Amino acid sequence: MASPSGKNTPLRGKTYSLHGEERDAGHYYELIRGLTDRFLHRCPDEQRLLEQVRNASRGRSFVKRLSGRSNDRHLLSFIKKTLRESLSGYTTGVRQHLRTLPLSRRFDPILRTKEEHYHLFMIEIELTNRIFRDAFRRSTYRFALIAHCLRDFRPGCRAEAGAYESLCRGCTKECLVHLGSVLLRKYGIHPYISVTMDLEKLFRKIRSEHDSVGALGIACVPELAMGMRLCIEMDIPPVGLPLDANRCARWMKEARDTSFSLSELENLLA
Ligand code: SF4
Repeated sequence: MASPSGKNTPLRGKTYSLHGEERDAGHYYELIRGLTDRFLHRCPDEQRLLEQVRNASRGRSFVKRLSGRSNDRHLLSFIKKTLRESLSGYTTGVRQHLRTLPLSRRFDPILRTKEEHYHLFMIEIELTNRIFRDAFRRSTYRFALIAHCLRDFRPGCRAEAGAYESLCRGCTKECLVHLGSVLLRKYGIHPYISVTMDLEKLFRKIRSEHDSVGALGIACVPELAMGMRLCIEMDIPPVGLPLDANRCARWMKEARDTSFSLSELENLLA
């Protein structure tokens, strides 16, 4: 999908943009798939690779405390070097953002995400999708949380309270929340606009009311990676798609419109 502004310029996020220098995120997704295949060639066990990639974005002492074993340092240095060489063009705003991040906002783990961690999260999201896609599909109740910033620019938004989160009422046909919701419903997934901050409480509630639950997230890269981790911890198979760029008010001085790839969403669900 082209920039929401309709201009022939790539979408710019505060720290990242999946458009890079292109008009859409197609090249990014090709690249991520190719990189993940390369890493799986070195480490064919998807779960083991996911564990390594996740641990790489945590402190070494945390990993040792948790698992009692250290990472494969050769594999990790290969992954980090390859990611730095391949993905830096998608994360050009991170350094400037971190340089200018006020002290009072540095306690926010999402806002203080380092550039290297964006790259690791990008691979983590792709790997998580590969590992959990089948279990997600088999879940009897599947729901999606769509980032609220995809509708923020619509003062007349008629979303209303749903069973768990806000429900889009489809008042604007070109709104990406509406288009995504239509696609998700086609595949039997219940779409909600994500507004709740306490995801753990929300997931606990949904899980208590259904036999088996699968979750789909559409959010900015660090939020999505964290949300997927929480799902795995809570035994909810997750899949997800990153926003093309982080442009909500949490990142920018004022919220700006953003997008996600509807074709990639269909790829994930088909
Ligand atoms: S289409 Fe849905 S999300 Fe978009 S403005 Fe209307 S009610 Fe809100």
